[in-house]
Parts: sequence; structure tokens; C-alpha cells
Amino acid sequence: MRESLGAVPADAEVVVVGGGVVGLSVAFHLAEAGVRRVVVVERDLVGRGSSAKPVGGVRATFSDPGNILLGQRSLEAFERFGPGIGLRQVGYLFLCRSEEEVAEVERSTRLQRRLGGSGRMVSAAEAVGLNPYLNGDALLAASFSPRDGHAEPALVVATYRAMAEELGVVVCEGTEVVGIDLAGADIEAVQTDRGTVRTQRVVCAAGAWSARIGDMAGVPLPVEPVRRQIGITPPEAKPPTVPFTLDLSTTLYFHNCGDGLLLGISNPEQEPGFGREYSAEWRPAFDKAAQVVAPSLVGRELASGWAGLYENTPDHNALIGVSRQVHGFAYATGFSGHGFLQAPAVGEVVRDLYLGREPFMDPSPFHADRFAAAAPVRERHII
Ligand SMILES: Cc1cc2nc3c(=O)[nH]c(=O)nc-3n(C[C@H](O)[C@H](O)[C@H](O)COP(=O)(O)OP(=O)(O)OC[C@H]3O[C@@H](n4cnc5c(N)ncnc54)[C@H](O)[C@@H]3O)c2cc1C
Repeated sequence: MRESLGAVPADAEVVVVGGGVVGLSVAFHLAEAGVRRVVVVERDLVGRGSSAKPVGGVRATFSDPGNILLGQRSLEAFERFGPGIGLRQVGYLFLCRSEEEVAEVERSTRLQRRLGGSGRMVSAAEAVGLNPYLNGDALLAASFSPRDGHAEPALVVATYRAMAEELGVVVCEGTEVVGIDLAGADIEAVQTDRGTVRTQRVVCAAGAWSARIGDMAGVPLPVEPVRRQIGITPPEAKPPTVPFTLDLSTTLYFHNCGDGLLLGISNPEQEPGFGREYSAEWRPAFDKAAQVVAPSLVGRELASGWAGLYENTPDHNALIGVSRQVHGFAYATGFSGHGFLQAPAVGEVVRDLYLGREPFMDPSPFHADRFAAAAPVRERHII
């Protein structure tokens, strides 16, 4: 790849570190607002990090008002992109199997509706009507939000990249950020393995690898990489179209992926680390959960599998803000498994913070300094 790489610019107005869906959305929104000499530095090819997930859920179904607003705003953007990003608004179905889950999901659904969301509670029978794979006897209720669904991250990455480059953004692939030069509290340059870029402003969008970039600038970004795995079943003739369905009790989830199904479950025992090797070790936990909620999925053959990294923060909410210690250092990271669905709105928010404008929502609860203050409130609707 190196031979075909263009030169790294010697200076930039701003360097965006990371060419995933978040970095490219940030770069596009900055350029669209008139910021010139935006340079994205990506050590691999763009979209090969966590944004390489084959299909990503898009939703505004959260318990935290900030996440709901970011999700809704992003849904509007995904709807504007339309079929070109593989958007399928099949809804999200959160399954409740205990009274506590019902109470919590009812509370979140009320909050989402107050903020303009599409969700409503449905009975077990309605849930089975929406998703014939489900065993209604295992369910007490569910929430269904028809505006949610899924889309293809690679297409969104390609779209943001094309729109950004059209506006003059320079994307440097195969280029690793290895240091950030500071003079006191000011940024002077970004060091890459292919040369120095003089700049006073940096946006860290390095996903699971963000803590290292924060360390280079002396800004603590508590992001921990955790491997997560999915499997995709072979194509079937005329598979039913189902919502993005997830079981709150076990984190089992599944939805259509082409003519197959994408299956997943989190592994609470997974140690943090950067390893992304795929293995079938998630399957027994999936099958155990499926035995109860969706028995016909037990033991399903898989056509392929994929492992990627969640970029977890201590409260499973993103880090979005501008450092109060290092001038010009902004960050959009730590999405803890929901960065694809928030990327469009996050690009807007970072642009506004950068330009000193008021964003469409208050991003201050996402500031990285929150961990130094009172106990942060954990997002509940995560898997
Ligand atoms: C199994 C799985 C399922 C998921 N499901 C969903 C879902 O349904 N919906 C959803 O919204 N999200 C989902 N996510 C999470 C989502 O994929 C991520 O939150 C999102 O892709 C993060 O995008 P990003 O641009 O921040 O990070 P990335 O796409 O990881 O991009 C960061 C980039 O930074 C680059 N980089 C790192 N260090 C350096 C350096 N020193 N120099 C230069 N470049 C560097 C990396 O190479 C990488 O390309 C899932 C993740 C996994 C693993």
C-alpha cells in the first residue's frame, strides 16, 4: 500500500486522527462548515476498524436523553442518505423477560416518546407477530420502535469519505499517528510515521485505540478495547423480515443480514485487549439464550463470522468534547458499541464545538472530565 500513498501535508488547520465512520463524519461536517485544510490520518485503510462491521443497528432507543437525541438526529441523516447506505427501517424490538426489565423499558420508552421517539410497548403476542423466530412464552413484553433499524457501515464510511474529499479534505491512509508535539498547553504538530503535520488542532476519533492518542496529548481518554463477535447464517429462500431484536436478560441479538441472519451476544468474561481474532467461542452462550427466546436459532449453521472491538468507557457512554487542559484537542470516541448509529450527529456536535457554536443538543454530559466528578449514570440499553 505504501508505494501508492500520497504525501502527508506539512501543515493542516486540523488533524482528525482515525478514518472510521466517526472521523470521516467529523471531517465532512467541518469541511461543509467551511473549515479548510482538514486532514484525516488513518494508519490502515479507512473503515477497517470497528466500522468494518458488516451491518450496524441504527436506533434512538436508549435510556439516556443525550443518547436518544444523538440517535434521533442521526436517524434523520441516515434517512436522508436513503437506500444508498443499505438502510432498512425494520424497527428495534427490546425483549423483556422480568418485571424489572418491563418497568425499566417502560420508563425509557416514555422518555423517548417525550423526546419525539417512535417507540411503544407491545405484548408478547405482538412481539411474536413482529418476529416469528420468538418464543412468546418466554416474554413478558417488549418495546418496538419502528423508525429504528440497520444500515451498512462500509457504505456510510464511503459516503462520508466521498463528500469530505469533494470538499477538499485530505485522507492519508497507511499513516500512523505516533506523537503529538505540545508547547505548554498548545498543540504544535502531529507526528506520523510518514512525517510531521504542523497544526494547532486535533480531533481524536481513533475508536478503541483512543486512549493512546489521548496519552500523546496528556488528555486522559478512558477507552478500553473489548472484543465482540458476530456470526452470519447462510442465505435462506424468503427469510422473514424481522426487527433488530435483542434480549435484555442475556444480550442475545439477531436481525436480517442480506438473506441470512446476523447473530450475536456479548461475553461478560471477555478480557479487555486489542485482539480481533474470530473464534466460535461465543456460540454456546448464544445457543443457551436462544433455547429460551428463539429456539429455532439454536445450532444454526454459520456462513461467516467477524470479530471487532467495542470501545468501552466506564459508564458506556461516549466521550465527546474539547479538552479543558490542552487547547485545540477535541475527541469523539468511547462509543461503547453504538458509534455507528451516533456518527452523523456526533460529526455535527464536534463541528459546532470546534467553531464555538451551540450544538443542537447539550454535549456536556459526554465530556471526558465527568469521571473526575460525581458517579456517572450508566446507559442501560446496551448490549
Ligand atoms: C461486534 C460489534 C457490533 C457492533 N454493533 C453496532 C451496532 O449495531 N450499531 C452501532 O452503532 N455500533 C455498533 N458497533 C460499534 C461501532 O462499530 C463503533 O462504535 C464504531 O464503528 C466506532 O467508529 P469509530 O470511527 O469511532 O472507530 P473505528 O471505526 O474503529 O475507527 C478508528 C480508526 O482509528 C484508526 N487509528 C487508531 N489509532 C491510530 C493511529 N495511531 N494513527 C492513525 N489511525 C489510527 C484505526 O485504524 C481505525 O480505523 C459494534 C461493534 C462491534 C465490534
